[in-house]
Amino acid sequence: VIVARTIKEARAALRSAPRPLGFVPTMGALHDGHLALVEAANTRCANVAASVFVNPTQFGAGEDYAEYPRDEARDLGLLEAAGRGLVYAPAPDEMYPDGFATDVRVGGTLTESFEGAERPAHFDGMTLVVTKLLSIVCPDVLFLGEKDAQQLAIARRFVRDLDLPVEVAGVPTVREQDGLAMSSRNAYLTPDERRAAPDLYTALLAGRAAAGEPGSSPAEAVEAVIAAVEPSRLSLDYVAAVHPDSFETAHTFGSRSLLIAAARLGSIRLIDNISLASSAYPTKDATQ
Ligand code: AMP
Repeated sequence: VIVARTIKEARAALRSAPRPLGFVPTMGALHDGHLALVEAANTRCANVAASVFVNPTQFGAGEDYAEYPRDEARDLGLLEAAGRGLVYAPAPDEMYPDGFATDVRVGGTLTESFEGAERPAHFDGMTLVVTKLLSIVCPDVLFLGEKDAQQLAIARRFVRDLDLPVEVAGVPTVREQDGLAMSSRNAYLTPDERRAAPDLYTALLAGRAAAGEPGSSPAEAVEAVIAAVEPSRLSLDYVAAVHPDSFETAHTFGSRSLLIAAARLGSIRLIDNISLASSAYPTKDATQ
């Protein structure tokens, strides 16, 4: 694996790279979720580039940019073992030199609801950095995790809106044995919090089970999640059944409806989602 620190080095290393080229952007502190993206890219593509960059523009004031877990030596070792091709790991001022003044943002419900409402400017920073990374790496396929479903929907949107010549591929969420979705921020959980953390996924499963009951509506799935979280240590930020492309609330089940939730556990926020697609639907698909 070649490690490129600058845009010039990355472009030079990729100029004659075999195609198709897959790209996996990460903020490092790699876990099996990230490695599943690399694996998916390895399977589909002749060559894989990954990036390790804790992107300052997607952290709000008071968020954990300074404390975000960083262990570059370990990350590079994992990518070396898992991948081929290139790792792009720039310093912040390589990406945002003095005088940087450009915004890239997706408007509307998709960026203003749910995670966008909880973390203003988060998605603008993500959209900016992914646009820049795509322009540096020029991949054929961009691999993103379904764990961050709203991010995935926004990436599909700006790739389409800006006519970026890349396919966006979503990769299923990798979970710990007890169901907790893997996340670099799970490292912050205290042992007590870690024991409580899988309750979010358990609650989503309860919601999906409720969705499978004859005659049920998305509102009942949402109610079931709220009821399941009630006795736990989690405090829900939101739970909703949404269309996975628009993140508009689903009032009837569509074949691709997603049940999404975020909760606080002490100082940590957990987000997760599951597809309602595998439940048996009593009603006809009306949201597609
Ligand atoms: P991050 O390093 O948190 O910015 O995540 C980099 C990429 O890994 C994003 O596309 C995430 O959606 C994806 N990702 C993070 N956690 C998981 C997981 N548990 N399963 C699958 N993909 C994940």
